[in-house]
Amino acid sequence: MTATKPECRATLVSMQLTNDMGVAIAERHGVRLTSPDRPVLAGETVTKAQLIAYYDAVAERMLPHVANRALALVRVPNGSRPFFQKHDTGGFPDTMRRVAIELKESEREDHFYVTDIAGVMAGVQMSTLEFHIWGSHIDTLEKPDRIIFDIDPDAGLDFGRVRAAACRIRDVLKEWGLQSYPMVTGGKGVHVIAPLRPVTEWPLVKLFCRTFAQRLEDNEPDSFTANIRKVQRQGRMFVDYLRNERGATAVTPFSTRARPGVPCAVPVGWDELDRLKAANQFDIEAAAERAGQPDPWPDYFELTQSITKGMVEAVAGPLKDLEQ
Ligand code: ATP
Ligand code: MN
Repeated sequence: MTATKPECRATLVSMQLTNDMGVAIAERHGVRLTSPDRPVLAGETVTKAQLIAYYDAVAERMLPHVANRALALVRVPNGSRPFFQKHDTGGFPDTMRRVAIELKESEREDHFYVTDIAGVMAGVQMSTLEFHIWGSHIDTLEKPDRIIFDIDPDAGLDFGRVRAAACRIRDVLKEWGLQSYPMVTGGKGVHVIAPLRPVTEWPLVKLFCRTFAQRLEDNEPDSFTANIRKVQRQGRMFVDYLRNERGATAVTPFSTRARPGVPCAVPVGWDELDRLKAANQFDIEAAAERAGQPDPWPDYFELTQSITKGMVEAVAGPLKDLEQ
């Protein structure tokens, strides 16, 4: 968890997200809200009703990214001790839907998914502060439709280094014909995300991403490491490629975070990223306002790029020689 609160907010007039708005919106969406004016995180002022008003304000931008994907939730039932929840344990309203997914052979577990903003609001009612998504849709579960490189800086590293790393990953992805977009996480880092046509299954996509990260480290060892161990970081950035495997999740665009100041994960443009001072600058009001401005990822859902077997072989070598 970061120790600092978001240091600056959007400079435009701030959008007001009041408790009264949230209560009325929840009612309109058929969500029975309990403790609407209780803070969602200890030591913070943001309330459950304000979260409802926030998700209503960002619904149009958020839903295309979050709908019909298996979810992992970060819940904070009494405002303290956030925990990750991947499977249904009961008590959730029906708008938070369930789908059985096979994890190990013949073991199926119920996962959550939503189809509309009422589902997200049902999650909020159940003290969800973060929504994390699989990289594939539930109807094409075995074929990811996005890859993500999660840049995790070593402690104390300047955000300028993170921005530069994101741009570098963008440029190398471009060399592979893949257009990508940045998202500030609301925490410390940036996610570089490339949408894909769902044509290639998880093992090959994972192999591409793992080798891609390893090549970054090989070529630029002063900046990057592909090793998750913190002791290996030493002034470098960990390029977390592990989000790109079946069952892994990443925080969804416009999710709030269970961190000081309740910041949000916000998609930004490459130019805009240059001007940001940190990854946690957007609180709920600034993020709601951002969602009302022109889309920084305008052609995200129109792109028809993919990771082909040829690309995997070009980066990782002949497939017959590789264990997958
Ligand atoms: P930051 O920019 O601060 O790193 P982040 O969202 O990238 O924010 P990470 O801690 O790097 O957070 O985690 C990367 C992703 O891994 C998360 O978005 C989440 O989906 C997943 N993750 C993290 N912790 C867990 C966990 N305990 N169980 C399951 N998945 C997790
Ligand atoms: Mn991260």
